[in-house]
Amino acid sequence: MQINGKTNITGIFGYPVEHTLSPQMHNAAFKALNLNYCYVPFLVHPDFLEIAVKSIRALNIKGVNITIPHKEKVIPLLDEISEEASFIGAVNTILNQDGKLIGYNTDGRGFMYSLAENGISIKGKNVLIIGAGGAARSISYYLSQDAKMVYINGRTKERLEKLIVDLKRIGKINILPVDKIFSLDEYHIIINATPLGLKEDDPLPVEESLLKEDHIICDIIYKRTKFIDIAQKKGCKVVDGTGMLIWQGALAFELWTGKKPDVQIMRMALTRE
Ligand code: NAP
Repeated sequence: MQINGKTNITGIFGYPVEHTLSPQMHNAAFKALNLNYCYVPFLVHPDFLEIAVKSIRALNIKGVNITIPHKEKVIPLLDEISEEASFIGAVNTILNQDGKLIGYNTDGRGFMYSLAENGISIKGKNVLIIGAGGAARSISYYLSQDAKMVYINGRTKERLEKLIVDLKRIGKINILPVDKIFSLDEYHIIINATPLGLKEDDPLPVEESLLKEDHIICDIIYKRTKFIDIAQKKGCKVVDGTGMLIWQGALAFELWTGKKPDVQIMRMALTRE
């Protein structure tokens, strides 16, 4: 990579940010297309978020990804918010369009692309989402347009109810809350959208005995989880969170450059790490 006076700067604002794999993914994709862009991590303390966002304009940064803990707090600092980011209540990508800062959320569409690349269609399917947080909101925004039914299991009643009410406003299908999971028989696709599985000793998001081989099991956690391993052993079709991570990045890349990245290159950069 040759940095020069015309290099377009992109990056990620997070706190912490050391763990991010996005620089490897994006820089490999810029290089593959011979684009004069680079992607750098910015460790942005919460106290400095506002000034960091102002710096995007001041320093003519082309765009940034936004990660924990800034995804929600960044919204009032932007000039415009996309429809899905506004529904989700969180931004993961900012585009600096000639000085106008526009917030997007590419997570949900990234998840849908990861299903598509695995040959999975949601049409006619009953889908159970476990979790009612930001990621569940981003995924359900899209699922609520095309699946047969969407069921959501959430730990905090108020958060779950708010999500259901919001989805009913925009969705075209039936959306139901699920209090306790006693059986998975009526679901075709089951998605873990909680952090359960990040830690080795976490319990599974659902009882192992409830899994059947015709289930499609998705886990959006970036690394391979016990849930995915067990489901695969049971004969289920599985989709882990790496596809969503890559595709949400690919969509941000397209917003900043106007070009589609080579997703295979991004995947290779990620797996190398
Ligand atoms: P979030 O907003 O904090 O929501 C987490 C959800 O999981 C909430 O509904 C929370 O319930 C529930 N939860 C948390 N701990 C739980 C537990 N021990 N048992 C049962 N439910 C629990 O987080 P998020 O942004 O949605 O992220 C969720 C996961 O998705 C994270 O692991 C994140 O790394 C992953 N993710 C992956 C991608 C990707 O590209 N692959 C993108 C975004 C997120 P309460 O409401 O009661 O707290």
